[in-house]
Amino acid sequence: MKMNRAIIEKWTDTVTPFYYYDLNILKQTVEAAKNEADKRGYVLHYATKANANPKLLKIIFAAGFGADCVSGNEILRSMECGVDPELITFAGVGKTDVEINTGLDNSIFTFNCESIPEMENIDRLAKAKGKTAHVSIRINPDVDAKTHEYISTGKKENKFGISAWDFDKVIEKLKALDSLKLISLHFHVGSQITDMSVFAEVCSRVNSFNQWFRERGFDLGHVNVGGGLGIDYQTPDENLIPDFASYFAVFEQNLKLYPGQKLHFEPGRSIVAQCGSLISRVLYVKEGKSKDFVIVDAGMSDLIRPALYHAHHHIENLSSNAPEKIYDVVGPICESSDCFDRDVPLAETKRGDFIALRSAGAYGEVMASQYNLRSIPDSMFSE
Ligand SMILES: *Cc1c(COP(=O)(O)O)cnc(C)c1O
Repeated sequence: MKMNRAIIEKWTDTVTPFYYYDLNILKQTVEAAKNEADKRGYVLHYATKANANPKLLKIIFAAGFGADCVSGNEILRSMECGVDPELITFAGVGKTDVEINTGLDNSIFTFNCESIPEMENIDRLAKAKGKTAHVSIRINPDVDAKTHEYISTGKKENKFGISAWDFDKVIEKLKALDSLKLISLHFHVGSQITDMSVFAEVCSRVNSFNQWFRERGFDLGHVNVGGGLGIDYQTPDENLIPDFASYFAVFEQNLKLYPGQKLHFEPGRSIVAQCGSLISRVLYVKEGKSKDFVIVDAGMSDLIRPALYHAHHHIENLSSNAPEKIYDVVGPICESSDCFDRDVPLAETKRGDFIALRSAGAYGEVMASQYNLRSIPDSMFSE
């Protein structure tokens, strides 16, 4: 199945580039994840930072997802789009006072704390409001996510989380800070993880940390293992809906929860990546030495993943049925990193053709910038 060309033709007169979202794919993905989680009693918090487009958020929250937020504005946006504040987790190494107060005022489910100074600050702000803040500690389990270094977060040299050697100090602090209540342990080791053995390793680390806190008298009601499930960027049409059943099964088989403990997940990319494409038009086909350049009107300001992470997006010419040729597909921005991919097989391409960069629903639109004083791309939807 190729992307539906008829749908794109609907927007022949629309200014390009734009993000195109197939809300039907989103709904199927949301439903698949929710069904598999419900079967096992797992709680899902959608990682809002992957895509905060209100149209998408409303669908996700209407299906009963909570939110995993990394800023005060994400908390507010998620609530505007219908999330239950009691299902909001708030993560991040550098929460400001204003953001913490936003969380406290809305009585969110939990603050995922990433350092002792942060715990002290949340305690101080909660006390000033006469409230008790529910917190998790984000533990850095020292697991290699085997993904790009910029989206690997669970190694001991990363800035994220609290490491095991600080646990005694954390416990001392928790005893002293009476406006904090520890309710959960939190983990998140990275993103675009496709090797399920990484999650199995996370489980074995979680088991030992969970036991450690149990033995010291903490009766924690929750364990949160974060997000990170990868998607198929190479052949999106073969795997439009990620295999949530196999993913959850890894935790079902490897995680030892104590009676009454609830397991939480924070999927982002796996929920929204495949429903989105960046649609652009070909400005020029420029002759090169060994192959031609397709110069499109989308650039790294619209979709930075290839430039930032050397990420691969499947590229399709939606306007041509001609035999394939090999091209480098590049944007108009004054940086050599503004290249979407090299040696791309595309149906023979000419000026004006529509080009789709697939699987762009996650970490696409949210990372768009105005570099070169370009416009932020618009978004279009099909039901
Ligand atoms: C980014 C992030 C997620 C989501 O990660 P995905 O790879 O998009 O699923 C979940 N939890 C935390 C704490 C994050 O920072």
